[in-house]
Formats: sequence, C-alpha cells, structure tokens
Amino acid sequence: MKINELMQLIDREIPLSKADSWDNVGLLIGDKESAITTIMTTLDCTLEVVEEAVQQQCNTIICHHPLIFSGIKNITNQGYGAVIQQLIKNSINLIALHTNLDAHPQGVSAMIADKLDLINQDILMPQLSAMAKLQLFVPESHVMQVKAALSEAGAGQIGDYSDCFFQLEGTGQFKPDASAHPYTGEVGKLEIVDEIKLECVFEPRLRRQVEAALIASHPYEEPAYDIYEFLVKDMFGTGIKAELKQPVQIGNWLKEVKSKLKVDTVRLIGSPDQEIRTVGIIGGAGMDYVPAVRQSGVDVFLTGDIKYHEAHDLLMNGLPAVDIQHYAESVVKEGLKSLLESFDLDVPVISSTVDTNPFKAY
Ligand SMILES: [Zn+2]
Repeated sequence: MKINELMQLIDREIPLSKADSWDNVGLLIGDKESAITTIMTTLDCTLEVVEEAVQQQCNTIICHHPLIFSGIKNITNQGYGAVIQQLIKNSINLIALHTNLDAHPQGVSAMIADKLDLINQDILMPQLSAMAKLQLFVPESHVMQVKAALSEAGAGQIGDYSDCFFQLEGTGQFKPDASAHPYTGEVGKLEIVDEIKLECVFEPRLRRQVEAALIASHPYEEPAYDIYEFLVKDMFGTGIKAELKQPVQIGNWLKEVKSKLKVDTVRLIGSPDQEIRTVGIIGGAGMDYVPAVRQSGVDVFLTGDIKYHEAHDLLMNGLPAVDIQHYAESVVKEGLKSLLESFDLDVPVISSTVDTNPFKAY
C-alpha cells in the first residue's frame, strides 16, 4: 500500500474535512508514492518515537497531535526541527489525524469511553450538515427518464442507498404565453395535465449538476421545481456521552478511571460522595464546551487541561468534573490501531510504547 492510497482511505473513513479550520491534519511529512512497511500510531511524535519507528523498521507514523502546527520559521537540529530532520533522514512519513479523529464516532473520546467500559455511547455534540431537497413536477411518461438522470447526477443517495425517490400523483395546469413553445397544450389556452410530484434529496455541492440533469431530462420548456436546504444531524461530532453499567459514587470510581486510562493522577472538582451514572467526555482540552456538556445533562464531565479558575467556575455552577489529564488521550495509540485495522489495511499497524506525557508526578 502506498501513502496516497492510505490517505485516500483515511479521507473516506476519517475525513480530513471534518477537522477544525485552525488544525493541521493529513500528510505532514513524506512521499505520497512511497510504499508503507509498517504504520505506528502515537499520541505525539517525539524524537524517542521516531527512534522507536526506526528500530521497528516502520516508515509511517500516524500521530494525533500535529508535529507541524503553525509558524515554523526554521528547521535546525534542535527542538521540533530535530524531529523533522530525523523523520526525513530516515524516510519516515508522518500523518496527523487530530480534530478529524476527535469528530469521528470512534474517535478519541469514544476510545476513552471504551477504556472505561461505558455503555450506550452517543456523540455529545453532533455536527450538523446541510442537505438539499428537490421537488419537481413531471408528466408520468417522463418520470423514469428524469429519475435516471437525477440519480446519475448524484441525487437520491441516502447513506448506502441510491435511487431514493418519493412520488405522488396530481394535477398541474399552465397557460402558454405567445412566445412559449409548449411541449403539450396550445398558446393562450389553459392546459390541465396529469403529473407526478417527485421528491429526492442531494448534497448541496451537487446542486449545479442536479439542476442541469433535471432540465436536460424534463420534457417541459420551463420545468417547475423547488430546491431548499436544511440541516441534518451528522454521524460526526464532538465528545461522547455514555453511561456506567450501574450508578457509582464518583470518589469510588476514580481509582478505576486512573488505572484504566494509565494516568498517574486524576483531579476531582466536586463532592466525592455524589452518585453518578451518565458521563460526558471530551478528550484533550474540553473546557470550551462546558455549556454544551451542561445542556446534555450528564452527571459528570471528564476532560483535560482544566485551569484553576475554570475549576472554581465548575464548582460554582455545580457541574462535577474530573481532570483526567490531556495525556488520557494516549488511548489513541491502541484505539487508532484497532480503528485502522478495521479498514482491512494490507500493512501491519503497531502502537508506540513511548510515554510522551510531558508531566511527571512526584
Ligand atoms: Zn489532544
């Protein structure tokens, strides 16, 4: 498998377009034509991780946190430049899957929920995507022709189903003006016609080709149709809400959280005696999403990077929370390996064993 084939597959399954606009995902360093030997997954790409890849004869690293983020002014043998140099020297490809992986239903927050054996998982804040609906009116003689043309243009696709239409019989009427060239009827005379009302959906990006197909396949000089856009819940989104198999006192549960997420400390904001069942999770730094987490009604919020005054705000507002550390995202090493393997790649995938947590507890 070549890198460009892997990138196409990734873009289909974990679309790069789902990443936040400020992010930097995709192939950051590498050769699109190179053949992949082994893929190594990691949370961060450090020098130690590159060394491990070399030892494991692995020429492709997929990291969660982009090594190249913004404004790199020089690449020397120090700091991040040294990592970039080592990757290039050793012909190692580096791919970053960051907020696009966060947005995936099996993304990092879901991987944390899996580690904690949580059930009934659902996206906490689903993304909304635009869809377009077309309704048109066509004489019965041309229904199949119009449907075929619309399908060909990409309309009528719902998930894994193509050629999805709904139709209803009715009566249309029109009076052609002097300059008209009507398909049926006469100038200046009211024409009553049996027509079919046809409905289908399509992605708004296809609008131009769908309209062109409709006009080309419809027998009327002026086909009557309406297109309107609406928002639908996407399968992608931010965070996960899930449930514990049975209610627990939060203080009793935290030891388990710590060991399952392999972090040295977790910090509770709230009473250890509170009984909880529903859990909201945003891997990494999730404090920007507190209003949505509160609205979701979960009993406790798990995230990382909670600052002192943010913790006070949470206490004041009565939302129990646990700082599980940003490094809880290291579940991505195993989780991404499993996700990639589920895509039936024909190359081996391994997880880095390097601990890249910059914080060490004493
Ligand atoms: Zn992160």
